Amino acid sequence: MVARRAVRRLTLKVTRGVVPGWISGVGVAVILGVSSAGCTTVAGTKRSQFNYMSSADENKLGRDAYASEIGNAKLITSGPEYEMVKRVCDNVVQAAGRLYPDATKGFEWEFKLVDDPKTVNAWCLPGGKIAIYTGLMMAAKNEAQLAVVVGHECSHAIARHGGERMSQQNAVQILLQGAGAGMSFASLNPAAQQATMAALGAGAEYGVVLPFSRSHESEADELGLFIAADAGYDPRQAVQLWKNMAALSGEKPAEWMSTHPADETRIKRLETLMPKAIEIWEARGGKP
Ligand SMILES: [Zn+2]
Repeated sequence: MVARRAVRRLTLKVTRGVVPGWISGVGVAVILGVSSAGCTTVAGTKRSQFNYMSSADENKLGRDAYASEIGNAKLITSGPEYEMVKRVCDNVVQAAGRLYPDATKGFEWEFKLVDDPKTVNAWCLPGGKIAIYTGLMMAAKNEAQLAVVVGHECSHAIARHGGERMSQQNAVQILLQGAGAGMSFASLNPAAQQATMAALGAGAEYGVVLPFSRSHESEADELGLFIAADAGYDPRQAVQLWKNMAALSGEKPAEWMSTHPADETRIKRLETLMPKAIEIWEARGGKP
């Protein structure tokens, strides 16, 4: 379990060796058969990103990594808390599909509720594989706040931050070295599995937590806020969620807080996005 493991922050340095990064990057693109040299556009923000992985490979990796990460977890599959989480995830996933149909086309959405009341955490792997830890409800105190977290995590997958990070960090090379020509997560050596999980944003079970960059966080905040609003949840609850997170981090270490600082900049930015979010929310009738 996360709480009992020594989770260390790892900054994966780009291992360039004697070969410049861009040359090794091109090499990876050739190996993977990526003809466009990995230039893609993020849904919603239209930012250009370099991603040497195809959506299909990224989603397959997410699927395999999900099975591995969630395999030993104690899951909750019924009861009021499960029903609540299911309702929120269903609504958020539908909204994500409405707002970002192209980016979510190959997704096979799935969620798991992990019975771990001490762990304040949630993540979503490429392809829409969501995990919510029961400890998250210490910070997400109502359905709207939970929708904000789920929307944020799904947005990391929608914006393909995992594949982008793997490309930036040459983790694709690590992956290929570990897996040969295949893209199977299970066949990777332990170091490659660890690097992959860290890049995908769900490495706690592998002893590595690699925070997303500030720009990835801002992007996930923006997409996630609009998704929560389109799912019918009051987007203004996002500000309260982050205040709850900040209050909680003073009491005990929270996994999500270690990668998601609830600072003034973040809250101010959310407030700037709020008029548009409220517009989306009201257009959906103001309820889920
Ligand atoms: Zn995030």
